[in-house]
Amino acid sequence: MLAKNGGKYILFALAALLLCLFALHAAQRREEAAKPHVLESFRLGTVTRVALYGENAAAEKALAEADKFLREFERIFSVNIASSDISRLNAKAGEWVAVSGECFRLVERARELAELTEGAFNPAIGGVVRLWRTGTPDQRIPERGEIEKALQSCDYRKIESRASEDGRYLRIPRGMELDLGAIAKGRAADMLKEKLREAGVKSAIIDLGGNLDVIGLSPEGRGWRLGLQRPWSPRGEYFGIVEAEDISVVTSGPYERCFEKDGKIYHHIIDPASGFPAESGLSSVTVIDGDSALADALCTALFVMGRDRAAKFLEKNGGVAAVLLSASGKTAFVTPAARKIFRLTDENIALEEIGGGSR
Ligand code: AMP
Ligand code: MG
Repeated sequence: MLAKNGGKYILFALAALLLCLFALHAAQRREEAAKPHVLESFRLGTVTRVALYGENAAAEKALAEADKFLREFERIFSVNIASSDISRLNAKAGEWVAVSGECFRLVERARELAELTEGAFNPAIGGVVRLWRTGTPDQRIPERGEIEKALQSCDYRKIESRASEDGRYLRIPRGMELDLGAIAKGRAADMLKEKLREAGVKSAIIDLGGNLDVIGLSPEGRGWRLGLQRPWSPRGEYFGIVEAEDISVVTSGPYERCFEKDGKIYHHIIDPASGFPAESGLSSVTVIDGDSALADALCTALFVMGRDRAAKFLEKNGGVAAVLLSASGKTAFVTPAARKIFRLTDENIALEEIGGGSR
């Protein structure tokens, strides 16, 4: 009788032990999944951070892929690498240059977005940007004559493309210089998201110098909460929050790169109409979209346009989720699409709807 019961106890104890081990293993996996796997590097001229959530082995493999991808992307698009497609195109202005499919597609996209924004976003602005050297130790205010001359070679409609069986080619006119700085990080984020999803990543946050992208839901199982940077304030100080999943949140603002001369601020977003930093009455523009390249180019364009032109553009192109902050920082102009996912956290800022087609 005792022996029979003893057997039962042993069986019971074994079952309990197995259950405990199982629960421990599950808890360990949950813990693994809740801790981010992080890759931080300096790529595309900025600090980049990729944080993945998931099981250790798969996440580490995906991070290695991300690192490889960012290096490859840089080899194609960096103006600091002489053999990159963009450097070769600029060095051989006037000639047809064989380029990679990635470069061909991004330049075509950039040209389309330049058309859409009537040149407010202009990928052919490189010659003017280079004159200012903003963000480098030699930053300066160029002579008016220099600017006038450079502006003559900024017609993006003159970028030519040719694709045939023997390859893809681009040609820019002599004197033109491409600058994909306002769209490349967005495209990099789109391609990186694609790669990570293919590698099975279900939850991730990518920060390419302020271009924020998220995959899936946050580790807490809800939409990601992404803060919008308060202009001219320490990094990480926010004026509002976007809550969404599978989204890209891209911001352009003068405070990102600028210098002061005789009490005046000169920044890196150039108005292609004047060749001078855009004086648009805004301090930042954020565009929220699943397509990061689009969001990137649009936020630069909307910044250049300023409130009134941007309002007309947003009315015509309904559905764009955008948040524009006035130069004084006192009013946030928010589109109907953005209102669904954005909320102001600073009660001193007034919210005004823009681009809803009501005016
Ligand atoms: P973003 O930070 O996306 O607004 O891009 C700004 C960068 O794009 C600048 O640092 C320049 O390299 C380049 N850029 C400046 N003005 C323009 C413009 N109007 N259109 C396209 N690219 C521009
Ligand atoms: Mg941009």
